[in-house]
Amino acid sequence: MILALAGNQNSGKTTLFNRLTGANQHVGNFPGVTVERKSGIVRGYKGVTAVDLPGVYSLRPYSPEEKAARDFILNAAPDAIINIVDATNIERNLYLTLQLIELGKPMVIALNMMDAVRGNGGRIAAKRLSEELGVTVVPISAAKREGLDQLMAAAVSAAAGKRLPKRLDFCGGACLRCIHSIAGTVESRAAIANIPSRFAAARLAEGDGPMEKALALNAGELGAVSRAAALMEHETGLDRSAALADMRYSFIEEICARTVKKPVYSKGQERSIRADRLLTHKILALPVFFIIMFFVFFMTFAVIGVPLSNLLGGGISALALGIDRALADFGLNPALRSLLTDGVFSGVGTVLGFLPVVLTLFFFLSVMEDSGYMARVAFVTDKLLRGIGLSGRSFVPMLIGFGCTVPAVMAARTIPTERERKMAILLTPFMSCSAKLPIYAVFTAAFFRQNRAAVMILLYIFGMAAGLLCGAALNKFTPRENLSPFMIELPGYRMPSVKSVLMLMRDKAWDFIRRACTVILLASVVIWFLGSFNYQFVMVEDSAFSLLGTLGRFIAPLFAPLGFGEWRAATALITGFAAKEAVVSTLAVLTGNAVSALPDALGGIFTPPAALGFLVFTLLYTPCIAAVAAMRRELGSAVSAARVVLLQCVIAWAAAFIVYRIAMMFFV
Ligand code: GDP
Ligand code: MG
Repeated sequence: MILALAGNQNSGKTTLFNRLTGANQHVGNFPGVTVERKSGIVRGYKGVTAVDLPGVYSLRPYSPEEKAARDFILNAAPDAIINIVDATNIERNLYLTLQLIELGKPMVIALNMMDAVRGNGGRIAAKRLSEELGVTVVPISAAKREGLDQLMAAAVSAAAGKRLPKRLDFCGGACLRCIHSIAGTVESRAAIANIPSRFAAARLAEGDGPMEKALALNAGELGAVSRAAALMEHETGLDRSAALADMRYSFIEEICARTVKKPVYSKGQERSIRADRLLTHKILALPVFFIIMFFVFFMTFAVIGVPLSNLLGGGISALALGIDRALADFGLNPALRSLLTDGVFSGVGTVLGFLPVVLTLFFFLSVMEDSGYMARVAFVTDKLLRGIGLSGRSFVPMLIGFGCTVPAVMAARTIPTERERKMAILLTPFMSCSAKLPIYAVFTAAFFRQNRAAVMILLYIFGMAAGLLCGAALNKFTPRENLSPFMIELPGYRMPSVKSVLMLMRDKAWDFIRRACTVILLASVVIWFLGSFNYQFVMVEDSAFSLLGTLGRFIAPLFAPLGFGEWRAATALITGFAAKEAVVSTLAVLTGNAVSALPDALGGIFTPPAALGFLVFTLLYTPCIAAVAAMRRELGSAVSAARVVLLQCVIAWAAAFIVYRIAMMFFV
């Protein structure tokens, strides 16, 4: 038995899904967190699967994720729909409910967040609502685990008994006549296409091109549909989609008047409203955002993350040294000892040392998200992004891009228009991902000890600025399309949940450690091998004469104009394609230095201006192979993905060249 969880964004679907299945999906106080559907077995109900769908506001798909949700409900034929309704926002949520009812599938309504409604002195007569809608309504609180058993019992019995919603007509008058007349016209077509005819008729009355195609209507039927719609427009004086929206909202208003006692504004809501006066202020919102981001970076790079990293790095170095000495005493084969200390420990240890930096950054970002602030930022950056042909919707992928480009590129699925989606995908790699943090940390420790935090913050800003510039250029040279309007729900501010923040940090830490122990470990061993042997497989004293040295020297001239035409730097950039952390581990392996000694060793390879050029180059050049693969998938073509890689390398080269030349003037 399959139960589909459908509801508006942020109505608590994922929370309920986690409660029912015991899963640990990310719950965000931010619309659009669930992009793909997830399924899981309901605990205590053998053979019952719950499917968490992306949030939708209506069944007219505006974005690919909305389409995914709708297609699942229509095509995968779940045994019942659990429609999750945010009771604190009941009018808007019921809009989707009315459309789900038209689908004529077994359904129950989970009236979620009842704890919040009660807490604010509101009341909802669930029984009465249930009678009005002809669908069982179960008041629940997913967060507090209230009413879940009743909900499951109702859902299972609706599915088993194939109990359909009892009421389909939400009004009389012009709209109803129009829908009925269209339903009559398309009935047989709908049966063939396996779409409920009432649902199809309502869609057609609103004017839905894809639906006309799906039903394969002929010219005569299309004529009948548009005549019926024209009559409705004439009778109501509204255009066809407005007429239907008006009908639904009037009905919702009526039943809410009978069943809902609105909560008063709670203290928290009043606080939210007051906070939003500043945080979404017309002029001050953006400066406030930048100040907050500055604070976050400053805390990460100057106060908490980097100092902790230094401690950890010192510890790892000491450990490496101790182990090396023990191995020497033991009399281990020198080649093997070198593999362990110069390869594995240098490479993996160096990268692992930066875990605290990554965790600190994500601590702040997840606090910002969970408190409800990030939704505001998407809202206030909408205007800024519109300047380059994007909208606030692109903010989410870009924000995720600070973590990792792979999920960021996937998050772009929420963007409804093709052009904006593609542009957002192209621009996410400019948001400096967390794998690049170790590179910044090592280089700033080596060359810019006085102003480490400043250099790192500048790099982040530089990346974003390059992205904006690139976006502006793309916007100018690609044909324009109308941007879809951007609607976002601003959730109330609240204390970030400790559990949610900790869970995100645990995921991040785990992810980082896993990468260090797989990709980076492998890369380190390969680099050690290629850097220790020559083509006759004889171990070399000086790795400049190794296999890798030969290769590195071959491509190094490409980077000479940027100040780092040195073979080790060139090799590090190549391994960086596998994973960005590998840039650091490669340098560690090739200089034979672990963690804390690495910054000093880098002094022999780079001059400070060249180091700046190198930082800018790594900031901007090709995203790693996993990100490129994700882009290929989402852009749908290998050629476009290859173009992105090429474009980024060219931009990186040019930017590094300029930065290096300018820096030269200051450093001599
Ligand atoms: P989705 O977008 O529909 O998947 O919604 P989520 O499950 O991500 O939840 C959205 C927000 O609502 C999160 O901040 C949850 O903590 C919160 N939430 C979910 N269920 C409840 C509930 O029963 N009561 C309250 N007060 N908050 C809830
Ligand atoms: Mg969700």
